[in-house]
Amino acid sequence: MKQYIIPVFIPYSGCPHRCIFCNQKKIAGEVEGVNIETIRKTVDTWISLSAISHQPSAFKNRQVAFYGGSFTAIPLEKQEEILSSISHYLKNGVVDSIRLSTRPDSISAGNLALLKRYGVKTIELGVQSMDNRVLSLSERGHSSDDVGNTASLLKAHKFEVGIQIMPGLPGDTFESSINTADEVIKLKPDFVRIYPAVVIKDTGLADLYQKGAFKPLTLYDAIGVCKIMLMKFETNNIPVIRIGLQPTPSLIEKGTILDGPFHPALRQLVESEIAYDLMKYIIVNNIKRDRVSFLTSPTELSNFIGQKRVNIKRLESEFAVSMDIIADNELKPGGVIFDNSFEKVYIKRKDFLKKYTGYHNALTDN
Ligand code: SF4
Repeated sequence: MKQYIIPVFIPYSGCPHRCIFCNQKKIAGEVEGVNIETIRKTVDTWISLSAISHQPSAFKNRQVAFYGGSFTAIPLEKQEEILSSISHYLKNGVVDSIRLSTRPDSISAGNLALLKRYGVKTIELGVQSMDNRVLSLSERGHSSDDVGNTASLLKAHKFEVGIQIMPGLPGDTFESSINTADEVIKLKPDFVRIYPAVVIKDTGLADLYQKGAFKPLTLYDAIGVCKIMLMKFETNNIPVIRIGLQPTPSLIEKGTILDGPFHPALRQLVESEIAYDLMKYIIVNNIKRDRVSFLTSPTELSNFIGQKRVNIKRLESEFAVSMDIIADNELKPGGVIFDNSFEKVYIKRKDFLKKYTGYHNALTDN
């Protein structure tokens, strides 16, 4: 069931140092000092907003989410104080659970007991990469072993586990990003977020960039790597709940992002690229006619067409066909019908993804 997230930002709380890419003030915006009063004020504001929301999830399955810091690295008494500020909301049924994000090297079994006691259900780990060289160059201060150990510990204690990864950090390559996805899959997280690295002002990465010692991914490359990652996670039944940073007002302020693959609709660009690959695969593997049509679910139509009709233009030119992409109200997301006026073929997205990722694995294994 979809959750109504009540975000409470605790910028850098618990962080032992600043990671090279991180500027929480710009990602989350300026936040008042974290204390019980400001936390409650934030939660009350979001609850009153939910009353006028049209989302059904706004009335049930509400989750308070502590973002922007390393929650479990905060001293235990302070963690308890913060969590206890939510207790009466949980008791009254106004809020259902708590989520928090933290580092993979700062969780002990003892700490987990406290989190359980106060209603924490979901823990998101900032993993970024499973390549130790990338982690070290990004000044993360933890290793890939820390990620594996902590993810197992969280699973053993029945927490819902989310993993955040960041392709394109210093030292990262296409291969090491894909290897990160493969290693994360082995940990069986409940969900993943992918944030391609962007250069934000007032960060260590910005210094490196300005000295010419770091070059971020281009948007084109980021779409390429996120596409393979998304395909791999999806074929392994791991939901990718976000691709790309949220375009908050402070992040999109002029001069904040110095360079990198930031796009407010990055997920759509990635989905559109997958739709292009899917249609190309179908055209190549079926009888070619001068005119072909694809029927998709209405919700996926724009992904298939692509921004500025780019997918239609590319395929028409590559295969010398004339093409239509039409919404079919009967079709559910996850499948597409190919019609060449000679035969109609239904293809499931998942079957295509399995073939594509199998092919990609075979290529990279050689
Ligand atoms: S641990 Fe997370 S919040 Fe803290 S500095 Fe690093 S990336 Fe930012």
